[in-house]
Amino acid sequence: MSECLFCKIVARTIPAALVYEDEQVVAFDDINPQAPIHTLVIPRTHFASMAELQDADVTLLGRLMLAGNKVASLKGIADAGYRFVVNTGIHGGQSVFHLHLHVLGGRHMGWPPG
Ligand code: 5GP
Ligand code: ZN
Repeated sequence: MSECLFCKIVARTIPAALVYEDEQVVAFDDINPQAPIHTLVIPRTHFASMAELQDADVTLLGRLMLAGNKVASLKGIADAGYRFVVNTGIHGGQSVFHLHLHVLGGRHMGWPPG
């Protein structure tokens, strides 16, 4: 997936403000933040979207979510609360087709989402 933007961030061929990483995931700040805290958590392995995940990927999915919790702690928003978002496909509002979990916080989130 040499043309994928987020694969390039994983490979460090384009820079990002790294927040957390482990064997399976990388977290970095969103370049166009929609809240005071806006970090993306991505698997090192390329999946185009959440819709590609299979039963065999359940551990990875759990790792992604738990890394989101770690990001919330590292960013100091764990107690106040935060929101995870996974935009999926065109109607879901996805614009980068490498699976990513948005971790948003630092302000009150509205509902319903746009
Ligand atoms: P999506 O719309 O696919 O759910 O989210 C993609 C996110 O990636 C957007 O919030 C966008 O601001 C962010 N993004 C796009 N290009 C870059 C980039 O080069 N670096 C970083 N850090 N974030 C990016
Ligand atoms: Zn990718």
